[in-house]
Amino acid sequence: MFSDDEHDPEGSTASMDQVRDTALLATVRRTVVELEAARERLAEGTYGTCERCGRPIAPARLEARPEARTCVACASRR
Ligand SMILES: [Zn+2]
Repeated sequence: MFSDDEHDPEGSTASMDQVRDTALLATVRRTVVELEAARERLAEGTYGTCERCGRPIAPARLEARPEARTCVACASRR
């Protein structure tokens, strides 16, 4: 008749934690991939150069986002 699912706080909390952990894991994985790509660009000598306009990316931006591929101007144009 009635499902107990909505009246089970523990079960509900557990599944919400799982959703949050999965999202967090996805973010971490993406960051790792981005940083790996940044390291490759560093090896190629193209690190710190905008992928779109070819101009240097501002050091402050690289400090805030080491994995940045584009300069501030190109990133905001997206
Ligand atoms: Zn650019």
